Amino acid sequence: MTIYSGPVFDMARQQFSEIADYIGIPEDERGRLLYPKRAITVSCPIHRDDGTTAVFQGYRVQHHLSLGPTKGGTRFSKNVDIGEVAALAIWMSWKCALAGLPYGGAKGGITVDPPSLSLRELEALSRRYMQEMIPFVGPHTDVMAPDMGTNEQIMAWFMDTYSVYQGKTVTEIVTGKPVASGGTVGRREATGRGVVHTAMRAAERIGLNPSGATAIVQGFGNVGSVTALELAARGVKVVGVSDHTACLHDTRGLPVVAIDRHVAVHGRLAGFSTEAAADPATLLMQPCDILVPAALERVIDAGVATRLQCRVLAEGANGPTTPDADAVLRERSREIFVVPDILCNAGGVIVSYFEWVQDLQQLFWEENEVNSRLTRVLDRAFDQVSARAEREGVGYRMAAMAIDVEKVRAAKQTRGLFP
Ligand code: NAD
Repeated sequence: MTIYSGPVFDMARQQFSEIADYIGIPEDERGRLLYPKRAITVSCPIHRDDGTTAVFQGYRVQHHLSLGPTKGGTRFSKNVDIGEVAALAIWMSWKCALAGLPYGGAKGGITVDPPSLSLRELEALSRRYMQEMIPFVGPHTDVMAPDMGTNEQIMAWFMDTYSVYQGKTVTEIVTGKPVASGGTVGRREATGRGVVHTAMRAAERIGLNPSGATAIVQGFGNVGSVTALELAARGVKVVGVSDHTACLHDTRGLPVVAIDRHVAVHGRLAGFSTEAAADPATLLMQPCDILVPAALERVIDAGVATRLQCRVLAEGANGPTTPDADAVLRERSREIFVVPDILCNAGGVIVSYFEWVQDLQQLFWEENEVNSRLTRVLDRAFDQVSARAEREGVGYRMAAMAIDVEKVRAAKQTRGLFP
């Protein structure tokens, strides 16, 4: 399967290989579990505002169809490639299985730097991408959602474009839509809320009192901003935040509500304060109780892992910790409690599932119902991981991966192999 390559795909493959060794999956069964079922590549041409034509490369990878439709976000980023999208699709599969959702994983992306487009160009690109994907997606085939570089507005354009081609409104083709166009209350906040909920469960286990604890959050987009606000609301002092334009650190605590307002208006952290400006290269290694990487993958390598000074590492981003770093963190498991990404940031896909169910039924829930169901699903997953980790004397990542890979394997084994 040479079409999948690159450091992010290698990381997903290595993680799978470690878990396959751990739970004893025979060699000849591994390819069926690891490699994506389908990978689609499309060229998306658009008219630029200056009258020229530009073409952008788009991808969608559907990992497995053994438990239901595939489900996963769409990433707009200048570095996206098919290997990264495939890795993210694989991680989505493990995440959905762990939470008990009836989905396989998928992921999509366009290689584009979103700020380089005008709003009109962004809409044209979003609509053209969805139009190109119509033969390969559907409410019972593959359901899209937001990820890095995409948001509720883009999901509304996706849904509208798909619906126009069907001749009727099909809200259930996409989740993470605005509430005004068939989205669910609580989806925008769901990932950050889940990150904080699982971080609090971890804090409880190590006897860390959130009131007066400190936190650092890398990334101030959908996941990072909600995480920072939720932490502050629980009495945690947020001492560091960053995005791709600025990095702020102040041991006295940062005014996260004002920062959030600034980012909502300007779209970036830069310009908020020069007083608290800090070096982004060392932010993750500053002392804090709860560290939340909520931006890119592979930001914690073995060198960074050695120098982390947190007590809880709550992985808001997908794949922020490399396998080498994970080995270091296993050695440091008495000092640092790792809440792995597939558990920590699962709140997003859990509430996306709720959105899909509500759209299919045309029956909408109150926000407190969404939130209490979210907490219930997360707690069930957390308790299962915790029990297995204790029983087998392994870390939470190993325990979580063992549970979800076994679930996907059991689905494949009981359904059999056609023909
Ligand atoms: P987003 O586009 O809303 O925000 C990304 C943030 O990361 C921005 O603030 C950006 O400035 C920042 N960033 C980019 N490069 C950076 C750098 N080098 N240093 C510091 N910050 C940097 O994206 P998001 O939806 O918040 O996603 C963030 C992460 O969470 C991704 O790994 C994504 O896959 C994961 N995730 C998102 C969801 C979701 O529901 N949105 C769900 C699960 C996991």
